[in-house]
Amino acid sequence: MRPVLIKGAGVVGLVTAYELARRGIEVDVVEQAQHIGAGASWFAGGMLAPWCERESADEKVERVGAAAIEWWKAALPGKVAQEGTLVVAAARDTRELDRFATRTTGHRWLDAEEIAELEPDLAGRFARALYFPREAHLDPREALSSLGDTLMAMGVRFHFGQATDATVSHRFDWRIDCSGRARLPDDAALRGVRGEMLYLRTGDIQLSRPVRFLHPRHPLYVVPRRQGLFMVGATMIESETCGPIAARSLMELLNAAYALHPAFGEAEITETGTGVRPAYPDNLPRITRSGSTFCVNGLYRHGFLLSPALAHDVAECLLSPNHQSEFHDEA
Ligand SMILES: Cc1cc2nc3c(=O)[nH]c(=O)nc-3n(C[C@H](O)[C@H](O)[C@H](O)COP(=O)(O)OP(=O)(O)OC[C@H]3O[C@@H](n4cnc5c(N)ncnc54)[C@H](O)[C@@H]3O)c2cc1C
Repeated sequence: MRPVLIKGAGVVGLVTAYELARRGIEVDVVEQAQHIGAGASWFAGGMLAPWCERESADEKVERVGAAAIEWWKAALPGKVAQEGTLVVAAARDTRELDRFATRTTGHRWLDAEEIAELEPDLAGRFARALYFPREAHLDPREALSSLGDTLMAMGVRFHFGQATDATVSHRFDWRIDCSGRARLPDDAALRGVRGEMLYLRTGDIQLSRPVRFLHPRHPLYVVPRRQGLFMVGATMIESETCGPIAARSLMELLNAAYALHPAFGEAEITETGTGVRPAYPDNLPRITRSGSTFCVNGLYRHGFLLSPALAHDVAECLLSPNHQSEFHDEA
């Protein structure tokens, strides 16, 4: 087989490159930006949370996503924290917590004492919580750049600052389009879901795992990073624009973070950002084939969670044409 060309070095492109390269296939990756992770993947929370996501997602997301935790651990040893997820709500919103519990599995209830044992800095703040012990998280930026290094060591060639066109693509038997939101104009079924986020830095609170703070209007999550950094996310707005964060979104995210713990009120805002999550109408990803081009897109809120399964399917489709993928959608 001649080399395969992958367009886009976001999480989907990189994970696909990995699955192909480890099967001995030669891979070239073209990325229009000058570096890895120039799209939505850069702004992700990095939560590998198939059981929590089931609250609003199809059962496939839970079933297929559960295997992603082991995939990331094997691909990037030491970069995945499997500390579970804690889900809390303010006293007036505990019905949200009950509702969340009825829509999900893989959790257990914690009382105030157990919450304090798990996250000492949340002691006394919540009477009960849901705990999803098998969930995991990673730092998406660290993960993308480590994956890039691993791929280069495996012989994958990167071409930065280059958008594909016919002059390069004729050298390849197969092309795999992983260009995320750039596909929006060419795929009528695809839409954008804007996600705004921010980074806070404070030494006054420590968390060991993602905490989801339920709220009827502005649910929020806080994901701890290294060195007192916390990623706070994220809005879900039906929009394809990725300009700066809106004032209202910033206020809502900050209000919710402050309600989770007042120490966030004194934190430094080190960054705000916006990513556009490409999504299909059912919010499930698709592998679409047209001739010798596969498009892998629509990963919505689940790029880190679902790319390993999609990448596996693409690799198997290339090697065995009869391979059946449950995400396959013939163009
Ligand atoms: C705020 C936020 C939080 C999120 N949190 C999570 C989470 O906790 N867990 C999770 O699993 N998912 C999460 N997601 C979803 C996840 O980030 C997306 O599903 C994922 O990033 C989509 O990846 P992608 O590779 O398809 O697209 P992208 O990351 O956008 O990558 C596409 C790449 O293609 C490049 N490109 C475009 N056009 C061309 C061209 N013509 N030639 C070459 N290169 C091109 C772009 O520059 C870009 O680098 C979150 C998303 C957002 C916005």
